[in-house]
Amino acid sequence: MAKGQINVQTENIFPIIKKFLYSDQEIFLRELVSNAVDATQKLKTLSNIGEVKGDIGETQMEIIIDEKAKTLTFSDRGIGMTGEEVEKYINQIAFSGAEEFVEKYKDKASVIGHFGLGFYSSFMVADKVEIFSKSYLEGSKAVKWECDGSPNFSLEENDTRKERGTDIVLHISEDAKDYLKEHKIKELLNKYCKFMAVPIKFGTKEINDPEFTPKKTKDKDGKETTEPHRKIKVDNIINNPTPAWTKAPADLSDDDYKNFYRELYPMNFEESLFHIHLNVDYPFNLTGILYFPKLKRNLEVQKDKIQLYSNQVFVTDSVEGIVPDFLTLLHGVIDSPDIPLNVSRSYLQSDGNVKKISNYISKKVADKLHELFKEDRKAFEAKWDDIKIFIEYGILSDEKFAEKAKKFTLYKNTKGEYFTMDEYKTKIEVNQTDKDSKVVFLYSSNVDTQYSYIAAANDKGYDVLVMDTPLSSHLVGKLEQMDNNHTFTRVDGDTIDQLIKKDEEIPSKLTEDDEKTLKPIIESAIPNETFTVNFVSLSEKDQPMTITQAEFMRRMKDMSALGGGGMMGMGNMPDMYNLAVNSNHPLISRILTEKDEAKQKDMAKQATDLALLSQNLLKGEELSKFIKRSVELI
Ligand code: ADP
Repeated sequence: MAKGQINVQTENIFPIIKKFLYSDQEIFLRELVSNAVDATQKLKTLSNIGEVKGDIGETQMEIIIDEKAKTLTFSDRGIGMTGEEVEKYINQIAFSGAEEFVEKYKDKASVIGHFGLGFYSSFMVADKVEIFSKSYLEGSKAVKWECDGSPNFSLEENDTRKERGTDIVLHISEDAKDYLKEHKIKELLNKYCKFMAVPIKFGTKEINDPEFTPKKTKDKDGKETTEPHRKIKVDNIINNPTPAWTKAPADLSDDDYKNFYRELYPMNFEESLFHIHLNVDYPFNLTGILYFPKLKRNLEVQKDKIQLYSNQVFVTDSVEGIVPDFLTLLHGVIDSPDIPLNVSRSYLQSDGNVKKISNYISKKVADKLHELFKEDRKAFEAKWDDIKIFIEYGILSDEKFAEKAKKFTLYKNTKGEYFTMDEYKTKIEVNQTDKDSKVVFLYSSNVDTQYSYIAAANDKGYDVLVMDTPLSSHLVGKLEQMDNNHTFTRVDGDTIDQLIKKDEEIPSKLTEDDEKTLKPIIESAIPNETFTVNFVSLSEKDQPMTITQAEFMRRMKDMSALGGGGMMGMGNMPDMYNLAVNSNHPLISRILTEKDEAKQKDMAKQATDLALLSQNLLKGEELSKFIKRSVELI
């Protein structure tokens, strides 16, 4: 039996490892299962090239809990190790790696998934670790290695392991005994090992015996009964070694993609809208499948996140920095061995490879959207309302994407028709060009509350777009900036004649003196100080009074509510409105000429209340007074 000292500078690295990684303790399981998978893959490769002769037999690995002995064992049928190999790989490589790791990261927090920790992460949960191994090499002797977490180890010949492969036995420490619970291990296997490349057995499960057909019999009343199914016990394989993203798109049907979505997120019962299969091998390696989920109007926190894998080993489900921001709300998987995993997030974002990966994903998504648009415009339109928030976000945050998105971004009007920007411009150009030759896009942020404005615009032959996402006010600014031949105005931003300023003017029926007389009467009819009264000469057929909120003011408020930079506090400002009085409306003339002062006041009040009502601004006591007065007037 050989005894020795592991060659490490730090007197005892294990307390450091234990403490340092406490929050991420559970990753020891991923590390040990990955090692077993690697050893099995190596054996398969050697067998394929003829280095290992004959049938290699069953290659699944197994995880075994022994609650009595307080051990957790990882058993594989991979290449195994000879004594010299244990000496080299475990004593030298693994431990020098451990020391290097501790040195490098002891001051740095937020290391993604703590990858590359390897074998020695087992000491985070074990007081003692044993390795029983037998190499695939002919004639090699089985060995046992043992270490209690100090730099002292023992290595001896020991024939516990009869066949090729390795058992790693963890003697679980008192403070980690959760890892002896079946449900805990099950949960971790499901998290980290669900798609690892070698079948992983964890216990057995009962299934209906496929060789058995239950007999149907009739009782004396003629009622049919079926005898119980015969059960058999089979290995419980917890993973899918060949997940969809590892296959070629040509070999997958639509159903395969749908099923994989379900496999990824078993608790999500919605189907995705469509998917994108990623597959590159130069200048970096990346595979994956992204799904566009159905989103709600508000950007709710998504439970199902994109999962990042490295060669089918789960790393993390926080992919910020790797996936462009606007796509982090997608679902699916990305698998790339080229993403540096044991580095901090800030480093990750400046990494050249990661930037390329992020750009690639953004480009692929844009290409796919364009393809869907070209292939079947109607189907694309049907999905538009669900995907527009991604696209708006993309246009706002990614210049290159914004450029590409011009080809497939749709604009929906209040009649439910969809247009590209060019199509829409052609449609409205004639009617909606103002005196400065700018095409004015009218939009509504809420078709219900702005109903009367939309109707007025339509009466005038104007078309109105629906722009009702939380990002719309940002987007409008961005679109104006991308092309300064057009502007956007919200449909309730001004009175109908002022929305699109044209040269023709309607003469006013009121003189300046008339306006001076009327103004205080109307002002006394509005409940508070947030209204500015002004006179506009509109057509007789337009509303007598209209309440508007200036486009500029409203955009500032919307943006500050979303946390737009530099406008902190705007969201708390009171709303300011304009009350535009149509000087040509007969009702206004009647208020002016009414001799009975009380009646005049009532008429003014009734008219302003109606304007408030159409904007949903008449509430509480004022509303009940209005109803009472209306009844009296009838
Ligand atoms: P890494 O896996 O990153 O190389 P580890 O510390 O996890 O680092 O393992 C060190 C080495 O020990 C591995 O590279 C491998 O050669 C060997 N090893 C670990 N586990 C096994 C195993 N189950 N079967 C065969 N060899 C193993």
